[in-house]
Amino acid sequence: MSEPLVGRMRGFGTTIFAEMSALAAATGAINLGQGFPDEDGPRGVLRRAVEAIEGGRNQYPPGPGLPVLREAVAAQRLARYGQSYDPETEVLVTVGATEAVAAAILALVGPGDEVIAFEPFYDSYAASVALSGATLCPVTLRPEGGRFTFDPDELRRAVTPRTRAILVNSPHNPCGTVFTRQELAAIAELCVDRGLLAITDEVYEYLVFDGVEHLPLASFPGMRERTVTISSAGKTFSVTGWKTGWVCAPAPLVAAVRTVKQFLTYVGAGPWQEAVAHGLAHETAWVEELRRSLQAKRDRLIEGLESVGFQVFRPEGTYFVQADLRPLGHDDGLAFARALPERTGVVCVPTQVFYADPARGRHYVRFAFCKRAEVIDAAVARLKGSPPG
Ligand SMILES: *Cc1c(COP(=O)(O)O)cnc(C)c1O
Repeated sequence: MSEPLVGRMRGFGTTIFAEMSALAAATGAINLGQGFPDEDGPRGVLRRAVEAIEGGRNQYPPGPGLPVLREAVAAQRLARYGQSYDPETEVLVTVGATEAVAAAILALVGPGDEVIAFEPFYDSYAASVALSGATLCPVTLRPEGGRFTFDPDELRRAVTPRTRAILVNSPHNPCGTVFTRQELAAIAELCVDRGLLAITDEVYEYLVFDGVEHLPLASFPGMRERTVTISSAGKTFSVTGWKTGWVCAPAPLVAAVRTVKQFLTYVGAGPWQEAVAHGLAHETAWVEELRRSLQAKRDRLIEGLESVGFQVFRPEGTYFVQADLRPLGHDDGLAFARALPERTGVVCVPTQVFYADPARGRHYVRFAFCKRAEVIDAAVARLKGSPPG
């Protein structure tokens, strides 16, 4: 049989996570590749899901999501960022942030349109843009002063008459950058000047370090009306398997996203929605403790990676550190990451797979630190025992 996969999805074969996790399983390596926590979320949230299931809440929730979760999301945006969304018309529950991004892109852009995204980007962005028939135009984040950022002129030049939307992920996976007020203001001004929509991925909104503040792009002048804000419970409550996310936007944008979303999944699972509503309303102290512990784990991993010779960029948020291999005498992250499990017993992810042109990210790999301290220590000990340099 000839290749059954449609042309626009070729090149999106197996994700790097599947390949690296299979390598981890085959070699017994410690998996610092995929970003999922190895400890459970808050007891109160887990209990709520069990109670919902045992209490018979097992049939289709309403299309836009359970009212209790839409209300909790609206209350959270108001309390945390001073932003007001009507839970009836301006909040939509989705199957994780991933579905929200896909539905937003499929609803808002199409063939002939261009979508700008900061590169490296979360792998689903390119696939969703490809499905929509639009073209993804990358603007590269590069190291400057120890963190990854963009050149505002390069961003301006990326906008063409065909540009319809810009995808903004902050806190940023995999770079760990939390965009500053100034960076976000530059993006906002451009969106307003050129009439662009913004789609934001804020799944790490709580997981920021060293007193850095996460600011929603929608809170900048002229942005509320043109921004689809996306977040999710997976990272905030260490329940990445629950796939419960949401969209906040003005009613016409939410209606557009819902129109697509209803035919992708119709609705997300109900029990998780009740549990996440409880979490948003009652578990902020738990999330603050998670944030604090992640910051300590970040420092632990960075110290270990630096001691074996990586150049590490200290992330301002997320689960991940970017490491430059060149001080170790390597310059191909893909070859490096494929050899590391066998050689040293540790799995990382080659960041080049998150670039439109892998050459631009060739010398970086990503390590996850959302793991128990003893797991991080064991990985560092293995790296020290058989140094990759
Ligand atoms: C983990 C992650 C997601 C996925 O969120 P889900 O709610 O599990 O779909 C989306 N965006 C980024 C940047 C992520 O790191």
